[in-house]
Amino acid sequence: MAKTESNTGKVYLVGAGPGDLGLVTLRAKECIEDADVIVYDHLANPDTLGWARDDAEVIYAGKKPGESQTQQEITSLLIEKGREGKQVVRLKGGDPFVFGRGAEEAEEIANAGIPFEIVPGITSAIAGPAYAGIPLTHRGHNSHVTLFTGHEDPTKTQSAIDYAALAKLGGTQVMLMGIERLGAVTSEMLRHGVRGDLPVALVRWATTGQQETLTGTVSDIAQKAVANGFNAPAVAVFGDVVSLRDTLNWYEKRPLLGKRIVVTRTRKQASALSNKLRSLGAHIIELPTIRIEPPINLREFAELVQDAHIYDWIVFTSANGVDAFFDIFFKLYDDAREIGGVRIAAIGPATAQRVKDFHLHVDLQPEEFVAEAVVRAFKKQGSVENERILVVRAEKARDVLPKELSAAGAIVDEGFAYRTVPETRDISGAQKQLAEAGADLITFTSSSTVENFLALGLPWPKGMHIASIGPITSKTIRDHGLTVDTEARRHDIEGLVQAIREFFARSMG
Ligand code: SAH
Repeated sequence: MAKTESNTGKVYLVGAGPGDLGLVTLRAKECIEDADVIVYDHLANPDTLGWARDDAEVIYAGKKPGESQTQQEITSLLIEKGREGKQVVRLKGGDPFVFGRGAEEAEEIANAGIPFEIVPGITSAIAGPAYAGIPLTHRGHNSHVTLFTGHEDPTKTQSAIDYAALAKLGGTQVMLMGIERLGAVTSEMLRHGVRGDLPVALVRWATTGQQETLTGTVSDIAQKAVANGFNAPAVAVFGDVVSLRDTLNWYEKRPLLGKRIVVTRTRKQASALSNKLRSLGAHIIELPTIRIEPPINLREFAELVQDAHIYDWIVFTSANGVDAFFDIFFKLYDDAREIGGVRIAAIGPATAQRVKDFHLHVDLQPEEFVAEAVVRAFKKQGSVENERILVVRAEKARDVLPKELSAAGAIVDEGFAYRTVPETRDISGAQKQLAEAGADLITFTSSSTVENFLALGLPWPKGMHIASIGPITSKTIRDHGLTVDTEARRHDIEGLVQAIREFFARSMG
């Protein structure tokens, strides 16, 4: 989506997939990353908005009952933004052309003469059954599939669905929308000769951590749905293939299914932990608590970066510092050798890894972020007397390390590479979701995640447990009067995931 061509905008009708973040296409992700404006639906997974640019305009166009934005308003908005020369992403749940009015929006955009692109998505009609262990086709059961809507255009006086034809057609039939009309739909089916014992499955919130499946037959499913309060959004599958679920149900057997887990990190870092927990079936509420911003005095930091080669040592104290440093470095220089003969110290494994990502060697890697330990590590490899050291760190970080290094005789400069500010925006609606629906557990991966979460001042949801990555984080949690319910034995993401699994296994067993 290079903006160089001209200043005409373009509208991308993008399928956001059925819910599972892993089921979004690469093209959809690219469109979201590049968009100036994103207009998203109630059923489009809001976690995808985490990929948006910080300055993107994000507009919710949910059409839950009682909400005001009309279809006409949404279409006009898309056209207006397109005319302004914007790259507009219209994000829709599932596939944009499977129900949900995507086709109508596309027609109007085309009629308005705005360039557009369609990015297909995985529809809930296929993914929902698949995640419930129901293949839509099977050589031994059927040879065709029908998609139909249970929610007809209310302006139509007569049913547009020919239930007689549906009954005769057989095969697998998938109904989207209209779960609340299931009684009427199944009566029509029975009236037209569909077998009363034909298997039916309803899959709600398919492919998310809240997925639930209800099975029955054409005769009893409507009544079961009411009895279980089984409401939208759900897909209904009618057909003999439903019986394959007995063998093929996989998703709902995962250990953390239905658990609501809060992950508190900056957006970029959250994905590894979130993805692991998601793949175990959890519903993740990704709650960014802080945001990394350039330092107040960026010019001063840039000057230090420019002079990096005059130092004997550069000390990185965080992965964010490494990123901020090289971001500027490679704007100034196009050759890594410009860094000269400087040696590099990185505190902690994540920081060291980030240095290595830039293909630079780490000469010294103190494990602990305790000033005394770092100074000791320095002294072990020789005197720091009169060595020129640049300490790259966050603004307002504790200044013990530079002091200790100076006290040991080094000539120390401090580079303020970035600052962290509380993330008060709620772009993906995670804060709202937490307030309204609560959570089973919150993860803390460092003391700062604890402090930053508490600084947001959100009410603590009832019954939300705490998982901590290790003793230092746990101490911070306790210092704030909270209880640690489980602590990782190995102090990394793997270890934390393991501890969470064990915690839920214990509390369930
Ligand atoms: N374009 C969408 C469908 C839009 S119509 C798609 O391709 O999936 C909205 C209907 O889709 C809902 O009423 C429900 O029947 C179905 N749906 C969408 N997401 C769903 C999900 N995660 N689980 C179950 N049903 C879903």
